[in-house]
Amino acid sequence: MESASILLGICARHLVALEPNLLAEPATARAFVRLAERAAAKGFDLRVASAFRDYDRQSLIINQKWSGARPVSDASGQPLAREGVSDRKWLEAILRFSALPGTSRHHWGTDLDIWDASTVPGDYRPRLEANEYAPGGVFAALTAWLDELIAADNAEGFYKPYDVDRGGVAPEPWHISYRPVARSLQKAQCIDICWPLWRGDPDPEGHCHEAMAMLPLLERDGEALFNRFVLV
Ligand SMILES: [Zn+2]
Repeated sequence: MESASILLGICARHLVALEPNLLAEPATARAFVRLAERAAAKGFDLRVASAFRDYDRQSLIINQKWSGARPVSDASGQPLAREGVSDRKWLEAILRFSALPGTSRHHWGTDLDIWDASTVPGDYRPRLEANEYAPGGVFAALTAWLDELIAADNAEGFYKPYDVDRGGVAPEPWHISYRPVARSLQKAQCIDICWPLWRGDPDPEGHCHEAMAMLPLLERDGEALFNRFVLV
């Protein structure tokens, strides 16, 4: 089933290259080019840090954060200590900034993490942290310009799904989504299609993936976590 495969991030057949190594859904890619042209006219150099990300990449990130192989940070980018934190609270801390595989909007090719290369040195690597985008931050001017367009529904179809804290995912001022395509995918999100992949059973394409390291916790609390961090 094609839509399940797109939702789960296990198919890249529908994508085009926005830049080398950056894949996006075709209408999203065209809209981004238009937005970048308008940004350039204002003196910005609108760039994409992250576009399509597949299931296995997302699974690796989550499993590494769970095991401690990759740091888990708070809103200010400070690494959190695992000690004394319950499994449930640890997973919640991870899900503030990273989606469970199969539920990431980056699976769809409609969502992009953006930054402005015009205000930083040539070797700058965006950290995707709130202070870069806040007033006084290096990307504050881009943020102000884009937020005004979004508020007027004049941003080529893009909006910010994580503009404010709704109690689940932390605000992500760098994350934009192409609503005309993302809207129906968002409506179709459900936890049921994720279970086979989380358990290591075959996906709709017939491939198996590494089981989630915290599978017993997901089997106990997955529904509640899905409601809080995915259905917003
Ligand atoms: Zn993002």
